[in-house]
Amino acid sequence: MNKYKDIGLKRTPQRLAIIEYLYDNFDHPTVDDIYADIRVKFPTMSLATVYKTLETLKEKGYLKELTIDKERKHFDPDTTRHYHLICIKCKKIVDVNKEFSIKIPIGDHNNFEVIDTNIEFYGICPVCKKRRT
Ligand SMILES: [Zn+2]
Ligand SMILES: [Zn+2]
Repeated sequence: MNKYKDIGLKRTPQRLAIIEYLYDNFDHPTVDDIYADIRVKFPTMSLATVYKTLETLKEKGYLKELTIDKERKHFDPDTTRHYHLICIKCKKIVDVNKEFSIKIPIGDHNNFEVIDTNIEFYGICPVCKKRRT
């Protein structure tokens, strides 16, 4: 939780609840997921508060926004480099935890200095696979 010490916003109970929800959450929640969960405790909280808090956390580098899912944005508190697997059926996103690197073959850099990669793997998760058979 200390990693969110300096978020540059007043630490209201609502905001702390959002931070707590995100902390060590590897499910890549959407704004709606977060809002639905926090509203149980804080029924008066507005969606705007959730957006503002997420935006600030993102600006401070505590949160990564994933745009893998074309329909909804997902948020990832794990800002270290890692890749994702996405289920094409239920849109579930999971982390690829093992570290590995994919390199552009030498001579095909087009003189770019490559500084980052974002790799997504698409497939069918075990739950959907079971459902299908
Ligand atoms: Zn699935
Ligand atoms: Zn992730």
